[in-house]
Amino acid sequence: MAQEDFRNKSYWMTTCDYVPGDALQGELDVDVAVVGGGFTGLSSAYHLKKAESNMRVALLESEVIGFGASGRNGGFNMTLFGLTLGITAVRFGKQKAKQAQHYMERAVDYLQELVRELKIDCDYEHPGFLRVATSEKYKQRIIKEMELAHELGLEGIEWLDRDQTRQQVQSDLYLGAWWEPRCGILNPAKLAWGWAEVIRPMGVQIFENTPVVEIRREGGRVRLDTPGGHVRADKVVLATNAWSHFFRSIKRKQVPAWTYIVLTEPLRPEHFDAIGWQNRQGIEDARNLVHYYRLTVDNRLLMGGRDIATTYGDDMDNDLNPAIFAELKDDVRQLFPALKGVRFTHEWGGPVSVPMDMAPAIGYAGDKNIVYSLGQVGHGVSMTQLNGRTVADLVLERRTDLTDVFFVNRRTIPWPPEPLRNLAARAILGYMHWEDRKYDPAV
Ligand SMILES: Cc1cc2nc3c(=O)[nH]c(=O)nc-3n(C[C@H](O)[C@H](O)[C@H](O)COP(=O)(O)OP(=O)(O)OC[C@H]3O[C@@H](n4cnc5c(N)ncnc54)[C@H](O)[C@@H]3O)c2cc1C
Repeated sequence: MAQEDFRNKSYWMTTCDYVPGDALQGELDVDVAVVGGGFTGLSSAYHLKKAESNMRVALLESEVIGFGASGRNGGFNMTLFGLTLGITAVRFGKQKAKQAQHYMERAVDYLQELVRELKIDCDYEHPGFLRVATSEKYKQRIIKEMELAHELGLEGIEWLDRDQTRQQVQSDLYLGAWWEPRCGILNPAKLAWGWAEVIRPMGVQIFENTPVVEIRREGGRVRLDTPGGHVRADKVVLATNAWSHFFRSIKRKQVPAWTYIVLTEPLRPEHFDAIGWQNRQGIEDARNLVHYYRLTVDNRLLMGGRDIATTYGDDMDNDLNPAIFAELKDDVRQLFPALKGVRFTHEWGGPVSVPMDMAPAIGYAGDKNIVYSLGQVGHGVSMTQLNGRTVADLVLERRTDLTDVFFVNRRTIPWPPEPLRNLAARAILGYMHWEDRKYDPAV
C-alpha cells in the first residue's frame, strides 16, 4: 500500500497526522508477539507491559495501526454485547446475559477512564445513547428488551416516550427510545493512534506494513514469518479480528462481514433548529441490521449500518458499496427531511468479525502459547479495550474475575468450509432482512 493510502479507509483517518513506523526487517526475539494493531492488539500490549514492564513485547500490524475496524468505526462507546440482550439470554441463559452486560458496562467505564488517565486526545464526548423505535413493533421490541434488563437487575436504562424522545432529537419517525446515559462517542482513529503513542514509550516495539504470513510452533516457542523477517516468541496474541480465518487454529471461529458509513458536511445552526439534537447523543434503531448515527466534533452527521455485505472465501476486498451508500443517504433524508440539501462528503466501510452465534469469544487457541480475541460483531469499541486486559491475564496465565467470564474459553460453533459458509451467511442475513421488513415494511 502506498504511504498515505490508508487515509482513504475512513474520514477519521484524515483528521490528524500519523506517520506509520517501520516494517520488521531481520530476526527478532521477544516474550510476546501481538498480531494486529487494532484496539484489541494495542490494549493487550499495553496491559502486558503494565503488568510486567521488563517483558519484551512486539506488535506486528500488516498495514498501519487502526487500519481495520478500529480506525473506521462509528466511535460509539456502548454497552451492547453481541446483537441484543434478549438473543444473548436465549443463547447462553439469563445469568450469563447479565454477566455479559456487567462486563460491557465495565468496558464502557474503563474506556472513559483510560482516555482520561492516559490523556488520549480522541475527541471523547459523553452524551449518552438512544435506541430509537421507528415503528410500533420496534417499540414493543425495545420495551421487551428493557423489561428483561430490569428483570436481571440491570440499572441505568430508562424509557423515553414519543414526546420526550422528540424533545431530544426531532424526527417524525420516532415513537420512543431506550435512554442510556452511560455511553459516549469518540474519534476512533485518534484513539488507535493515541494508543500507539502510549505504548511506544513503554517499550512496545511496533512494526507496521508487517503482515504475519505464517505461524508455527518451534520447540515450545512460536515462530511468526513476515515478508521482511521473522519473530520468535514465547507467546502470541492473535488480535486479527475479521482477518482471523487466515490463521489455522482459529479459522472457523468467525467470518468477516462489512458495514458501511456515509458522512455529511458540517451541519449548520438552521439544521439544528430543525432537528434539535443539541445534546449530541449517539443513536441506533432497533432493527436486526441497525442504523447507527451520531455527530462528529465538527457537527457532521455520520450515518452507518442498514445492511451488511459478505464475501466468498479469503476475499477481503469489500470496503466500498455504492448501493448501500445510496440507501444510507436516503435514510438520512427520510429521518430528517430538513437535511435534504445537505452534501455528503465521505463514504467508507470496514469488516467486523462475526462468530456463528454472533457473540464474542476470547481464549487459548490450542495450548496456552496462543491467545485470541475476536467476534464483537459491530460492538467492539468499548469491549476490545477491556478485552486487552483479559487477554493479558490469559497470556500471564493468571486467573482473574475477567478470565472467569463465560465467553473466555467458550466453545464456539464452527463456521463450515466454503461453499457452505457463504450459503449459511446468506441464509442468516436473509432471515435478518425478512424480520426487519416484518417489523417495519416502510424501511
Ligand atoms: C464501519 C464500522 C463501524 C463500527 N461501529 C462501531 C461502533 O460505533 N461501536 C462499536 O462498539 N463497535 C463498532 N464497530 C466494531 C469495532 O470497530 C470493532 O469491534 C473493533 O474495532 C475491533 O477491534 P480489533 O482490534 O479486534 O480489530 P481490528 O481493528 O479490525 O484490528 C485487526 C488488525 O489486524 C490486522 N491484521 C490482520 N491480519 C494480519 C496479519 N496477518 N498480520 C498482521 N496484522 C494483521 C489488521 O490490519 C487490523 O489492523 C464498527 C466496525 C466497523 C467496521
